[in-house]
Amino acid sequence: MSTNPEPQNPDETGEAPAPDPLADVRGMVQACIQCGTCTASCPNEFAMDATPRRLWRMVLVADWESIVSSKTFALCSACYQCSLRCPRGLPLTEAMAALKRIGNRESLPANRSGNLFYRNFIRSVRRHGRVRETEFMTLYFADMKNPLLPLRFAPLGLRLMGKGKIHIQIPSKGSGKLEAIFAKVEAMEG
Ligand code: SF4
Ligand code: SF4
Repeated sequence: MSTNPEPQNPDETGEAPAPDPLADVRGMVQACIQCGTCTASCPNEFAMDATPRRLWRMVLVADWESIVSSKTFALCSACYQCSLRCPRGLPLTEAMAALKRIGNRESLPANRSGNLFYRNFIRSVRRHGRVRETEFMTLYFADMKNPLLPLRFAPLGLRLMGKGKIHIQIPSKGSGKLEAIFAKVEAMEG
């Protein structure tokens, strides 16, 4: 479970304050006037538990408990609509991405599904140069360790197979032709 990131008062603890992981995000949305344009612009708002406007308020008041239990930033698809329309010109898509990085680093439950989905998508591209849909979903289901999850997707999968859009694929190591590129990026990020 994550730790509360709110900085401690050194006068009370006698220790240096813990770094505040929300500091960067707060800086990005500091000038928010709570107008709600980001919420009205967001195509994924219908699925979010907190609207984007409310999320920025939570960040500004350092409501860490509400942030870690929210799936809002995990559901951001980086369409940039909010960033384009924010009257204060705030980098909202980057702020969502920063929250996703915090969620991954802190292993927040709300981020787990999206994180495993993303990792298996990238692994498939790394192995084959493109995503192999059924292999990717098989590995994602295995990582999720929820035996009921494949049943939710079975009707859609069968419909797509019936139309010839996807095919049964046995997981394999692929050609490895992109391995050098991915390894280089990993080294640069490291
Ligand atoms: S559109 Fe910009 S100013 Fe308005 S609520 Fe959203 S972040 Fe704040
Ligand atoms: S970038 Fe994310 S939060 Fe902003 S409008 Fe698009 S989906 Fe919504």
